[in-house]
Amino acid sequence: MTNDSMTNDSMINDSMTMTNDSMTNDSMTLNTKAGEIQRILEELYPETPIPLKHSDPYTLLIAVLLSAQCTDERVNQITPKLFARADNPADMAQVPVEEIQEIIRPCGLSPMKSKGISGLSKIIMEKHGGKVPESFEDLEALPSVGHKTASVVMSQAFGWPAFPVDTHIHRLATRWGLTSGKNVEQTERDLKAIFPENTWNKLHLQIIYFGREYCPARGHKVEQCPICALFNCEL
Ligand code: SF4
Repeated sequence: MTNDSMTNDSMINDSMTMTNDSMTNDSMTLNTKAGEIQRILEELYPETPIPLKHSDPYTLLIAVLLSAQCTDERVNQITPKLFARADNPADMAQVPVEEIQEIIRPCGLSPMKSKGISGLSKIIMEKHGGKVPESFEDLEALPSVGHKTASVVMSQAFGWPAFPVDTHIHRLATRWGLTSGKNVEQTERDLKAIFPENTWNKLHLQIIYFGREYCPARGHKVEQCPICALFNCEL
């Protein structure tokens, strides 16, 4: 994963100007604001360990799949048991779906997730020589693997630039006025346009860490928030 450090405004695409009404300083450009946010995130989270326990692209793929509508903490409690049973596609393809479902039940959505884990393991064996494919297209063709999951694997397992946007990143980017916030696809496009490509992978994790620490879906104190306090974000 690319973890190039970034600290200043010069890294931000200077072709963009601020349009969001929530900014208090009208002269401040979007790129300046984005640079400041990035500087704060870099200060708060200089290191960004990958939150999901894994040992290779396959175990990361399974962990990310399990994290849909589940906390990383819960996933990290369940994966050791699952990977003790099978930690590679060849072995997992032999495990009955019902057994996978039983093990992963605490993660929620277990009928769908267990079918996905079994199905994608078989496809990886049959079509990709037992290796997780290193391409968005091939990853997104796997069962239960959407664009966000593929983006996490491409960035965190293989080091390709990607900006996985989940509902938390979408919420924060909207609150910070970095996107119009119509949907996660638009947010991904906007964030990719604002921030330099070589910072996407780290920034994605920094925003996740920030969201967990400071930004609940409801209930928060703007004045205590290192980012919204600075920009007086409208919430
Ligand atoms: S002020 Fe609220 S919305 Fe803004 S980042 Fe902080 S916690 Fe999130």
